[in-house]
Amino acid sequence: MELSKRQQQIIEIVKSKGPITGENIAEKLNLTRATLRPDLAILTMSGILEARPRVGYYYTNKSQNKIITEELSKYIVKDYASHPIIIKNGVSIYDAICTIFMEDVSTLFIINNKGDFVGVCSRKDLLRASMMGEDIHTTPVDIIMTRMPNLSYVTTQDKVITAAQLMIEKEIDSLPIVQHKQTGTVEIKGRISKTTITKLFVSLFKE
Ligand code: ADP
Repeated sequence: MELSKRQQQIIEIVKSKGPITGENIAEKLNLTRATLRPDLAILTMSGILEARPRVGYYYTNKSQNKIITEELSKYIVKDYASHPIIIKNGVSIYDAICTIFMEDVSTLFIINNKGDFVGVCSRKDLLRASMMGEDIHTTPVDIIMTRMPNLSYVTTQDKVITAAQLMIEKEIDSLPIVQHKQTGTVEIKGRISKTTITKLFVSLFKE
């Protein structure tokens, strides 16, 4: 966020004289309180200044980066979950390819007959299998999927930023959102993808 010259002047005044009332800031700038109102609103909303009733404005001493980091930490995975596309183990590679096309996703999540999350199969996994000359009609997806203990996932209460970091670190496009079962296994509750996070990023910009 780029601050105007007047907003920077306000910050300097509050830094040296705070806590200080809006009235007194206005006096120092030879302006009216009403003229300053939008600037003070921007500075408090962005977290640079804080206002205490009957005390006045004071400088929070938070860098803009810290403010952004704190803001981003509030976004929780469960609020940005999308629908996961799940197939059962034993399904053929051919059927997995059909599902990828029909559902228009990049990754399929695979479960066993108990509903436990057991694998992930991406577009490239399917392409590789087809190119390697596997009999895609008879070979089950289990043969080519990435499996436990190599699966990455997040839980509903994780931060969106944690999911983003994990996707970058593992070089993957999406993550399943899981819930731990009493049996020690996990079940899939949703999905979070790079697209979802990009949309969130764009929506913040619009706000
Ligand atoms: P693509 O292969 O279409 O580029 P990804 O980049 O998402 O898709 O996947 C790259 C590799 O990582 C694939 O081999 C896939 O099986 C694996 N993979 C994808 N998601 C996960 C995950 N959540 N946990 C572990 N491995 C994954």
